Amino acid sequence: MKAGGHVLPRDFKTDMPTAVRGEGIYIYDDTGKRYLDGCSGALISSIGHCIPQVTEAICQQLQRLDFAHPSRWRNPATEEAARALAEITPGDLNYIWFVSGGSEAVESAIKLARQYFIEKDGSSSGKHLIVGRWNSYHGATLGAMAIGGNMARRRIFSPMFKEHPKIPTHYCYRCPYGLEYPGCKLRCAHELENLIQREGADNIAAFIAEPIVGSSVGALVPPNEYWPLIREICSRYNVLLIADEIMTGIGRTGKAFCVEHWGVVPDIIVSAKGMAAGYVPTGGIFVKEAIALTIKMGSGHFQHGYTYNANPVSAAAVTAVLMFIKEHHLIENAETQGKVLGEQLARLTALPIVGDVRGKGLMWGIELVADRTTKEPLPRKLSASRRVAAECMKRGLVVYPGGGMVNGVAGDNLLVAPPLIVTEDQIKEIVLIFEQSLAAASDYLLKGL
Ligand code: PLP
Repeated sequence: MKAGGHVLPRDFKTDMPTAVRGEGIYIYDDTGKRYLDGCSGALISSIGHCIPQVTEAICQQLQRLDFAHPSRWRNPATEEAARALAEITPGDLNYIWFVSGGSEAVESAIKLARQYFIEKDGSSSGKHLIVGRWNSYHGATLGAMAIGGNMARRRIFSPMFKEHPKIPTHYCYRCPYGLEYPGCKLRCAHELENLIQREGADNIAAFIAEPIVGSSVGALVPPNEYWPLIREICSRYNVLLIADEIMTGIGRTGKAFCVEHWGVVPDIIVSAKGMAAGYVPTGGIFVKEAIALTIKMGSGHFQHGYTYNANPVSAAAVTAVLMFIKEHHLIENAETQGKVLGEQLARLTALPIVGDVRGKGLMWGIELVADRTTKEPLPRKLSASRRVAAECMKRGLVVYPGGGMVNGVAGDNLLVAPPLIVTEDQIKEIVLIFEQSLAAASDYLLKGL
């Protein structure tokens, strides 16, 4: 037998603890140390770890039907999950295509957008471009990276994919146009219209965006008028609107889907993470009826598929997670406790390296700076967000570091987004540990300037 150590890790140079057990909002390592999961993994474990009601539902499904290939079989677990999801999707986004994760969901959505226009307008349709935004993330596959704008994650791979056009994000703290809200009159949203006119609406199939930008910028909430304006522009130019709710969906921001905060119904929502809350790999796209019916009345066949589409075990997990969320009023809890989290985090602006605190529901981000007045970012070589996250880990708190949002290279942010079951006392504990960790890292970071 060969010795251990065969797993190709994400990072050979970081010594990570070994997770052996989860319970509620906690993860335990192999030495028995307890960690508060302050970012739900990566905004995934939204109902907490190892909830018996969910693990039992998954085991029961495994004993009933483990797998039946989706090109040959329907299965009741998937039908049930789709029914439960359709109850909470906005508008008439009533058709659901199940996949195994976020990147697959995004690939499915952009291919469906292209096929929709081919079915509707004929094979000569030129609609093939997907407009994205700088400072966004839509997944790790080549198609998803081509429409995403997270430089750190795409830089070395960009020669491998076909580029798609992008507009800047509503980064009000560092407005790309040097303007200020509301005097800016949402210049960043109007840029979508300029781009459509430049590229030609006949070439553009869809616009994709995260309702609240997650890991790329750190819980960037748009001005209230942003999404309604984007919806209006997309409709005017016959461009499908795809909301990437992979992080924000399934209750994270205090609504089932984040776009509901602004009364917007996209044409497609992509979802993953919170859908099965980390219990099994799952994702899905929620499609409005007109799109699904165009395929149905046309070729009748979505030219796309994965072996794990509509997997019954994943579907059983989705149904059990949604039931748990409903029974425990977790979407309401995200709203209530989200306010507490925001109030608690606000005090961190007293620390010299905290430039901005922003967020909604249980999705909050802080941006680190070298100088609060000039907003100068910390030097990249200091790896500030990673340093803070490491200080948190030492103290038994997990937060999600990110960076590169200022100019594709510099900029540090951290996401704080605990499971939706979190209590007020636990939030206070999270923020206290976070504050202590930031203070400890500040000493080191400010000395390194
Ligand atoms: N879209 C967004 C907004 C995400 O945050 C992520 C993952 O973090 C993805 C897409 C990709 O999802 P996955 O990692 O499940 O492929």
